[in-house]
Amino acid sequence: MDMSGARDDRAARGAPAARERLVVIGGDAAGMSAASQARRLRGPGELEIVAFERGHFSSFSACGIPYWVGGDVDERDRLIARTPEEHRARDIDLRMRTEVTEIDVAAGRVRARQVDSGAEYWTSYDKLVIATGARPIRPAMPGADAPGVHGVQTLDDGEALLDTLARARGRRAVVVGAGYIGVEMAEALINRGYEVTVVNRGTEPMSTLDPDMGRLVHEAMAGLGITMVGEAEVTKVLTGEDGRVRAVATQDAEYPADVVVLGIGVRPETGPARAAGLPLGPHGGLLTDLAMRVRGHENIWAGGDCVEVLDLVLGQERYVPLGTHANKHGQVIGTNVGGGYATFPGVVGTAVSKVCDLEIARTGLREKDARRVGLQFETVTIESTSRAGYYPGASPMTVKMLAERRTGRLLGVQIVGREGAAKRVDIAAVALTAGMTAEQMTALDLGYAPPFSPVWDPVLVAARKAAAKVRDGAR
Ligand SMILES: Cc1cc2nc3c(=O)[nH]c(=O)nc-3n(C[C@H](O)[C@H](O)[C@H](O)COP(=O)(O)OP(=O)(O)OC[C@H]3O[C@@H](n4cnc5c(N)ncnc54)[C@H](O)[C@@H]3O)c2cc1C
Repeated sequence: MDMSGARDDRAARGAPAARERLVVIGGDAAGMSAASQARRLRGPGELEIVAFERGHFSSFSACGIPYWVGGDVDERDRLIARTPEEHRARDIDLRMRTEVTEIDVAAGRVRARQVDSGAEYWTSYDKLVIATGARPIRPAMPGADAPGVHGVQTLDDGEALLDTLARARGRRAVVVGAGYIGVEMAEALINRGYEVTVVNRGTEPMSTLDPDMGRLVHEAMAGLGITMVGEAEVTKVLTGEDGRVRAVATQDAEYPADVVVLGIGVRPETGPARAAGLPLGPHGGLLTDLAMRVRGHENIWAGGDCVEVLDLVLGQERYVPLGTHANKHGQVIGTNVGGGYATFPGVVGTAVSKVCDLEIARTGLREKDARRVGLQFETVTIESTSRAGYYPGASPMTVKMLAERRTGRLLGVQIVGREGAAKRVDIAAVALTAGMTAEQMTALDLGYAPPFSPVWDPVLVAARKAAAKVRDGAR
């Protein structure tokens, strides 16, 4: 093994090897949750914890970036749950601006490089946690790196975007991609007084919904003054004489832009893990067991956006990069590393977002997911309201439900509406987790009073119709 210019810091510091050492790669949701939980369970006399983070921030909420950029959250530091100093005060040796470039599984050590100085050293581990997150997809097209083109993955990205917004001469923004991040960023830019165009490869925004439900999001966005361009592939970013972005080009049109935001998805960040030969799944994420241990490796765990998860409805591995999972993974890993026992059984695919006052929610399978694995199903779509129809402020809500043909097992729910649409999907998430049928859902004892729902909650109305359709289909 090449050790050029790289010493082992435990050997170099002459530190006693008596306590176990946990090394964590990645200083955000999954990594620092794991480190913090392990520390809760085992004191510094028993377990040394060293964490590496190549960026400037630890334990920050990328989920909050759209709301910070849009002005709902007034300052960056409100998105930081725990600073490096706070972690260090809890006996976690968090080394910022330090990237792990190599994992030597056979020797049980990682090679770290200080980003600013380039200095390298090896650190040995008894237990290793890989929590390297995701890397945003960047299209290989001319102009993609031009000033004025921004991602929104990190707080540095958010700061750079806010800086562009403060200096921009015009007020035209193009968002590339209409997934939930693109949709949330469209709202942020509207809030900043921009004219927003969203260019999307698919026909409808929010490809995590079926197209008929995505259409409702499309119509609502158009109603907010957002120009939606579907079935369009961005081919290049055009720049002006000053080198800054001036427009985005697709196959057949140009959209003027003073700022461009890219929201076209992420891939698992697995560079050193891949090079070390750790097992990867079909989506490029690390494969773990239910305890979040990397398959086949007794002393290596992985969690968050760098892993694949079991979809409990599909029964297959999927890539679902969400903060809600990353935090749970971290908790499970920290418990196991700390000598306890915890598992992460999998996900049912629940996700919520919003654009202005339109809430968008989904859980379980879309029609195409169910078809792909050979499931036959009944579909119902119902219109209802968020409150009793006579109660002031009631607003429309659309619920789509999929239930398996013959058995009636709930397969998926999508909800688009205004207040209360997003968190209503949690009813369906619980029902999916419990393996309930649409018929069983109809008897759920949900709360009712006119300010909160009609006497039959929209989810129950959908369940009743789905159950009836399953019964009719069985005749
Ligand atoms: C704009 C936006 C909005 C979002 N909104 C939501 C939401 O509403 N709900 C939701 O559930 N999720 C949301 N997410 C997703 C959520 O932020 C991620 O799922 C979550 O941050 C994943 O946590 P993680 O710890 O796995 O990875 P990350 O947060 O990506 O952290 C990984 C860390 O590892 C570091 N790292 C990587 N490689 C190395 C290395 N070799 N050496 C040292 N350090 C390394 C990185 O610098 C990074 O800080 C959003 C994401 C974005 C970008």
